[in-house]
Amino acid sequence: MKRIVLLGSTGSIGTSALRVVEQFPDRLSLVGLAVNSDYRAVLEQAKRFNVKHVAVADEAAAKRCQAEAAPGIRVYSGAAGVEALAALDESDIVLCAIVGMAGLRPVLAALKRGCDVALATKEVLVAAGAIVTETCRATGSRLLPVDSEHSAVFQCIEGRRDQLKRIILTASGGPFAFKPAIDFETVTVGEALKHPRWNMGRKVTVDSATLINKGLEIMEARWMFDWPLDKIDVIIHPESIVHSLVELVDGSVLGQFSPPDMRFAIQYALTWPERYEGDLPALDLARLGTLKFAAPDERRFPGLTLAREAARTGGTMPAVLNAANEIAVQRFLDGTIPFAGIWRLVERLMRAHAVLQSPTLDQIIEADNWARIRAGEIK
Ligand code: MG
Repeated sequence: MKRIVLLGSTGSIGTSALRVVEQFPDRLSLVGLAVNSDYRAVLEQAKRFNVKHVAVADEAAAKRCQAEAAPGIRVYSGAAGVEALAALDESDIVLCAIVGMAGLRPVLAALKRGCDVALATKEVLVAAGAIVTETCRATGSRLLPVDSEHSAVFQCIEGRRDQLKRIILTASGGPFAFKPAIDFETVTVGEALKHPRWNMGRKVTVDSATLINKGLEIMEARWMFDWPLDKIDVIIHPESIVHSLVELVDGSVLGQFSPPDMRFAIQYALTWPERYEGDLPALDLARLGTLKFAAPDERRFPGLTLAREAARTGGTMPAVLNAANEIAVQRFLDGTIPFAGIWRLVERLMRAHAVLQSPTLDQIIEADNWARIRAGEIK
């Protein structure tokens, strides 16, 4: 039996993870659940899955959760509560599906006690990849990818890591990659959120439309696979059937194919190194007929170029790009900046930032805070 702590259980990845766990009651069990503020939903989930440990990041909501929790359920409060849940002795794996930097300390807490982490929160590696991977090396704990692209790479290089020549991340291109006439100054929120393939949270859906998501994923891949940046390519593949590819030293290319459903990556991260037979949808290639591939247009989507630049600069720069982008996306969703304002804001913050190399955790968090505040202030 694999015992799982699930951080971010009410989000898109979290609810998909519950569907995976539900299917294998003899092999997967939940021991802890963490949410930001939706305490009613998490209590409901705790009841359904017989979970005894529940964390609520929002302290006021945690108080209400405590008042309404059934006897026998322990409620953990605040960011420290989420961290404590991640460090729980009785779990074998922590699935981190919290959005953004809030995932960082809980992930480190789990890794520090030697617990494996199934990681959906790419920001953790983007901002603090060096510290996170160093912690893995020190404790022997492992990171298992939940991001579909990284799950694909992970599956393709298993047993042949020493034959790897190049990682090729696929990108759906979001709703705009194949619409050259779209004006990025006037794109509406509704248009940006209309992702052609994936049903995901709002933040990552906008990131997918700007291609900044793929830039973040380049950084995630670099740390996840300890692999040089200049050997990670991006290719647009609108059908989202090939989740990424690897080129091996002899020129052979391997890819991982599946219908675009996050449960494939979640399930493999939770069941690795085994594969369980469940009810995931079958792939019907004959019905699809053709698969398209195209080079990304970095002039139309400068976010990808900015992310590569931040990755090469290193130090605190990726954390600044990530934080500036998070605020910029929120401002776009709130209607205070245009779609193209997202990458303009990110670029302004990157130009204004004095980079620290080999930063400590506190320095990374400081850079992150600085970028968030500045990104919120800029007109
Ligand atoms: Mg992805």
